[in-house]
Amino acid sequence: CGIVGYIGSKQASDVIIDGLEKLEYRGYDSAGVAVVNGDDKISWAKKQGRLSGLEAILAKKPVEGTVGIGHTRWATHGAPSDLNSHPHLNAAETIAVVHNGIIENYMELREMLIAEGYVFKSETDTEVAVHLIDKFYEGDLLTAVYRAVEQFRGAYALGVVSANHPGELVAVRKESPLIVGVGEGEYFIASDVPAILKYTRNVYYLENDEVVYVKDGKLTILDGEQKVIDKELKVVEWDI
Ligand code: GLU
Repeated sequence: CGIVGYIGSKQASDVIIDGLEKLEYRGYDSAGVAVVNGDDKISWAKKQGRLSGLEAILAKKPVEGTVGIGHTRWATHGAPSDLNSHPHLNAAETIAVVHNGIIENYMELREMLIAEGYVFKSETDTEVAVHLIDKFYEGDLLTAVYRAVEQFRGAYALGVVSANHPGELVAVRKESPLIVGVGEGEYFIASDVPAILKYTRNVYYLENDEVVYVKDGKLTILDGEQKVIDKELKVVEWDI
């Protein structure tokens, strides 16, 4: 039900937990975080229940790195559980996805992926997203995300990171909200402005089908056809 993502020089999990706390008003049943740090695999933690449960895990076993995504879940497909919590990862744990919304045609996508040998760990609609990105991945994360969302019917805001692309953050939205915050040498994605107001007031409000791509410290916003768009940066004038 809430997404927060970060790419910059701070510890991503601190910024993400902070932001997810600000989104608590949206309601949730589980929470999780995935961080990229130059290792072969993504570091992640997820837990059914309050954010404090996730924080307790992170206190014992921190996920370190300056690029990451986090999620608070309001279960629509699959009961609230640790396994159904986001982020969802591919088998190699090189790609992680958080998702708000509902992928309506997930059943047929799931069956197609299972027939191709993909193994599902959860009952969520979301898990098809990470396996589809894995399937379409040929070295270019952004293209793989485009090819995956082409398959979706429904509503989604997605945040994606990959251990193979430690300097990149990809996000896309359709019918579920998503904004981008612009800081000094750092970028944020979030379901809503309060999540990032502590860090920046400079925000891009994303329209349907728009894609956020941060690579090597540079932000690009693209449309559904992968064309770069020139959007107006807004300054948030209110406080929480
Ligand atoms: N449909 C997804 C799930 O049930 C995402 C729910 C959400 O927006 O939190 O896991």
